[in-house]
Amino acid sequence: MTVPCLFCRILGDVAPCHPVHDTRYTKTFLDIFPAAPGHCLIVTKQHYRDIFEATPEDISMVGHVSTLIAHTVKQELQCDGVGIFQLNGAAAGQTVFHYHMHVIPRNEGEELAIHSRVQGDPDELQAMAERLNRRALAMHAEID
Ligand code: AMP
Ligand code: ZN
Repeated sequence: MTVPCLFCRILGDVAPCHPVHDTRYTKTFLDIFPAAPGHCLIVTKQHYRDIFEATPEDISMVGHVSTLIAHTVKQELQCDGVGIFQLNGAAAGQTVFHYHMHVIPRNEGEELAIHSRVQGDPDELQAMAERLNRRALAMHAEID
């Protein structure tokens, strides 16, 4: 039997995460190696390796949720900008082979990295996830 991928284990509650937002089609949680505080990953609930496997419907849902999460981090963190990235294949820098979107708060003068090697502090990540979760729920009605 093959071992499910990391994000499938998170989706199945077998591996932990710091959850931010949930829909029927997507789960959003914090990247544990944040490129900036509030770095979110939007993951399809269905396992697809990358954009070449994912259905247009699920890709559309991730796009829709990325709008909500972009508004959420901008409002909650008052960042100058928001980077939204999606990598497909090792050659493009993909490291977890389950389709997902990065939503990264950006501030003037900061380095524009997508990946970090420094793991976030678990307590800080949890506090950030709770802040963003509250804000996402509050914003949903405004931009749905
Ligand atoms: P990518 O390189 O686009 O495939 O992005 C995968 C992301 O998953 C990286 O930014 C990693 O920091 C992040 N990551 C790795 N392990 C975990 C984990 N257990 N929980 C949350 N994010 C993770
Ligand atoms: Zn998976």
